[in-house]
Order: sequence, then C-alpha cells, then structure tokens
Amino acid sequence: MSHTGTFPDNVGFFSFSICSVQQQAMNVGVSQCGPSIMIETEGTGSVVHNLKSTMDLNQLERPCVLDGGHGTALEQMGIDVNANALWSFDTAIDNPAACFTVHKGFIDAGARFIMSNTYHGSIEVMMKSRGMSEEAAIKAIAQAVDMAKKAAEEASHKVHVAGSIGPYAIVLRDGSEYSGTYMDTVPRKAVEQYYKAQMKAMLSTGLDWYALETIPRLDEAMVALEVWNSLDGTNEKKLWVSFSCKDHETTNGNDPFHKVVEHISAHSAVSAIGINCTSPQYIAPLIQAAAPVARGKPFVVYPNHGEPYDALKHQFNYSQDDTFPQYLKDIPFLWKHNVRLFGGCCRVKNEHIERITSIVNALEI
Ligand SMILES: [Zn+2]
Repeated sequence: MSHTGTFPDNVGFFSFSICSVQQQAMNVGVSQCGPSIMIETEGTGSVVHNLKSTMDLNQLERPCVLDGGHGTALEQMGIDVNANALWSFDTAIDNPAACFTVHKGFIDAGARFIMSNTYHGSIEVMMKSRGMSEEAAIKAIAQAVDMAKKAAEEASHKVHVAGSIGPYAIVLRDGSEYSGTYMDTVPRKAVEQYYKAQMKAMLSTGLDWYALETIPRLDEAMVALEVWNSLDGTNEKKLWVSFSCKDHETTNGNDPFHKVVEHISAHSAVSAIGINCTSPQYIAPLIQAAAPVARGKPFVVYPNHGEPYDALKHQFNYSQDDTFPQYLKDIPFLWKHNVRLFGGCCRVKNEHIERITSIVNALEI
C-alpha cells in the first residue's frame, strides 16, 4: 500500500498468472502462493505446470506474502512525502525510479504480491495542485503501475501486482479516511465521480487485481462497488475491499466490522475482504468475528505497525508499545480463519516483510 510516511499506506491487489516459488531446504521449492502451480528445481529454473491468468485466493494452499508501506520505504530513502501535495504519489511522478526501488525491496524481502503506488494518485488533485491535464494525470497513474509491473517482471520468481485505489478522503488530503465523516457531508455524486475517474484510469493499466483500501465505512464501499459494477470489463477483474478499523470490532467510521463483512461478502464483485492500516493486535479478533459471516470469501490483512495515529498532529505516537509481534504470532490462527494474504501497511518495512515471509514459509499446513 502506499499511504504516505506519516499517513498510513494503502494497498491494491492482484491476481496472478502463476504463483511464486519459494526455494526450500533441499533443492526443490513448492509454490508459496498457489496450488502447486509451479515447481522450481535448483539450477534448472522453473517448470510451469499450470497457467492461470487469474486466480481465486481460496485456491491457495499456503499463505502468500504482500508488501509493506510504500510511503514508509520512500521516507527511509530520504524522501519527505509529507511535504508534497500528492503525498507519496508525487514521487511516482517525479522519481519513478525510487518507486521501482521500493517495489524491488519488498520483493527481495519475500513479497509475492506488491501493490502499485497509486493510493494517493487522485486525478482531481493532480490537476489542481500541479496544473496537469486529465490525460497527463491518467498517464501518471499508468507510470506508477508500470514501476510495479517492471519490478515484478524482473523478479526471479513470480510476483503479482495489484492496483491500489484510495478512498475519497485522498481528495480532501486531511487524513479523514480515519474517520469517514466526509460521507455525511460530501454529495454522493462527488464520491461517485471520484471512483469512476480513478477506477477507469486504473482499469486502463490492464491489471487483473485491484484493491480499494483504507475504506472507513460500509456506505462508501457500497458507492464504490456500484461504480465498479457500472464500468466495462470489471466482471473479468478481481477486486478486494479493505477496511481500516479503530479497535477489535469497529471500523474507523464506526461500523461493526463483522456486519460490514456480512453485507459486503454478498456482493458478487468482491473477491476478497481486507483489513489494512489497523493496529496489529486487532486483526485476529476482527477476523475471528467476521470469518463465520464471510460466505467463504477470503481475507487479506495488512496492518500498520501499531503506533496510534494522531490525525490532528499528522504524526504517530511512538511512545506506545509496538504490537506488531502479536500479529506475527497470530498468522497461523489467521490462516485457519481464511486469511490468504499477509502484509503490512504504514511503517511496515522490508525487515517486517522478511519476518512475515519466514513465518509463512515455516508454517505447517
Ligand atoms: Zn497504512
């Protein structure tokens, strides 16, 4: 995901053609993200047994690793994403090589899904803040996706790319995705227009998987899904809808998460349901309550690193204890409750993705 450094990250997701292979102790590796789709033998390259252009996450035989916080990684490179009008998306326009480096870093850490740095790529904000034409703004989104595709193509194993789409709050640029209160004041038409423009631009990149991320309320998700369904070709695409939550049972917009899942899992366009940019210790109780009402739809989880965010000060409270280790301990439990993809959001770095990867690789299924 690609929030910003100070802001949470977001993610988009994807689908694959074939899944990746994780080299194991002997010289045979078993597909990490897919049902025995690929077998890799040391020194002989990869043997593809079955190709699929898209894939149902429920077919995964092992957990799959997602990436971490794109904005955080850019900050680690010395880029001040908070100083920019488009947060981390300014880097996608001005320094795409930096985004490529971020994607590559997560892939090297073990990620087999990466998300495009498009969360903050609002066409409207690009036009207003940088005087770009609509066409140029759409091209900028395509360029950001191309960086993710390039990093995936250059990897030594199969990596899948998902297209990140942020909530309406990115137009407001005030961190209000952590409350969702704008849904009480912004005209529905404006929210629809935002999603229509962003989704059309993202769909033009040709990815198979897309992710609506950091959604605070069910009503916004339903508007987005209605727009998604109205667009050409979306019935052939995979989409996950990911919510941010403020505690062990409630979204940031005060909806009971299990009720959100019960409702949204009935929607045919939803291929998976996510929780992102949420404190790590809340992921297990949220999933435990929601899994029985998810109609078998798989989950995707990518919490932040656990420090609470102060929306007024635009900063995290680093004095709070780090709860990320709890999430790592919960991975086996979460896998049993139909979580299929595991990653991180804001402040989750390469080293954390490496830890997730090692746990996932050692997991006895
Ligand atoms: Zn985040």
